[in-house]
Amino acid sequence: MNRDNPRERVEAHHRSGEGVTRIPYPIGMRTAAVARTTYLTAHMVRVTLTGEGLAGFHSYHCDDHVKIVFPDPDGTLRLPVPNDRQLLDWPRPFPPTRSYTVRRYDGTHLDLDFVVHNSGLASPWAEALRKGDNVAIAGPPGGRAFPYTHPHYVFAVDPTGLPAAARWLDEAPSHLTADVVVEIDHPDESAYPLATRANTKVHWIPRGTLATHVLSLAVPPRTFLFAAGEADALRPLRPWPKSDSVIRGYWKRGEADHEDH
Ligand SMILES: Cc1cc2nc3c(=O)[nH]c(=O)nc-3n(C[C@H](O)[C@H](O)[C@H](O)COP(=O)(O)OP(=O)(O)OC[C@H]3O[C@@H](n4cnc5c(N)ncnc54)[C@H](O)[C@@H]3O)c2cc1C
Repeated sequence: MNRDNPRERVEAHHRSGEGVTRIPYPIGMRTAAVARTTYLTAHMVRVTLTGEGLAGFHSYHCDDHVKIVFPDPDGTLRLPVPNDRQLLDWPRPFPPTRSYTVRRYDGTHLDLDFVVHNSGLASPWAEALRKGDNVAIAGPPGGRAFPYTHPHYVFAVDPTGLPAAARWLDEAPSHLTADVVVEIDHPDESAYPLATRANTKVHWIPRGTLATHVLSLAVPPRTFLFAAGEADALRPLRPWPKSDSVIRGYWKRGEADHEDH
C-alpha cells in the first residue's frame, strides 16, 4: 500500500479527484505535552498539544484523526511501536484507545476538541489534563478524501463531528457552498467557534432531528454529504450515494469504544 507523499495525493484529490478515496499515511506514534486546555463551551474542551514529541506530525484534511492511547487499569502504558512498513505494531491485547479529529495542526501546536459527556474514559480524562501532562497519540493513519468540485456540501453532525466540519470550513476554498447541520443537546453548544463564510449556512437543531432536517434540505444533485455523530442517528442518511458521501458513526449510545462504521 502506497503511503508516500500523502500531502500531494490529498491535494490532488481535492483538486480533481472523483468520489471518496482512502489515502493512507505513514503512521507515527508520538508523545506530546499539554500546552493548555480551553473550554470552548461548557460541553467541549480543547486540548492543545505541543513539544518535541510532535516532530514529524502531519495532517491534511478534515477526516484525519488520531488514537489516544491510555494506560491499562493498573496504570501500565503499553504503546504501539513503529515498524519498517510505516505502520504500528500494536501490543496484544490492544491497549485502551479513543479516536479524536485533528481539529488543527499548525506545525507546532495540535488541537483536539473533546465533547464532555461525563462518562467513559476519554471525556473525564480530557477534563482532568493539566499543562505539561503527556498524551500518547497514534496516527493519523490517513483518511477519506473527497473533492472540492461538488456543487454543494452538507455537513450533518453532532458535537463529536463539529471539529471535522469546522476544519473543512477553515480549509476549503471560499467559493464552495455548504449547509452545516448540527444536532445539539444543550443550547450553549452553538457557541462552538466556526469560521464565517459566504454561502455557508449553519443550522443548530435539537438532538433527534438530524436526519429529518438534512433530508428536508433543498440541495442540488451531486451534493456531497459528510455525516459524523451517533451511529443510529445517521442510519437514515446511509442511502446517500456512496461516491458523494462520508458517513461515520463516531460513537454509539450505550456502547463504550464504539467501532466506527
Ligand atoms: C474518526 C473519529 C473521530 C472522532 N472525533 C471526535 C472529536 O473530535 N471529538 C469528540 O468529542 N469525539 C470524537 N469522536 C468520538 C469519540 O471517539 C467517542 O465519543 C468516544 O466514545 C469517546 O470516548 P469516551 O471514553 O469518552 O466514552 P466511551 O468509553 O467510549 O463510552 C462511554 C459511554 O459514553 C457514551 N458516549 C460516548 N461518546 C459520547 C458523546 N460524545 N456524547 C454522549 N455520550 C457518549 C457511550 O455511548 C457509552 O455509553 C470521534 C470518533 C471517531 C471514530
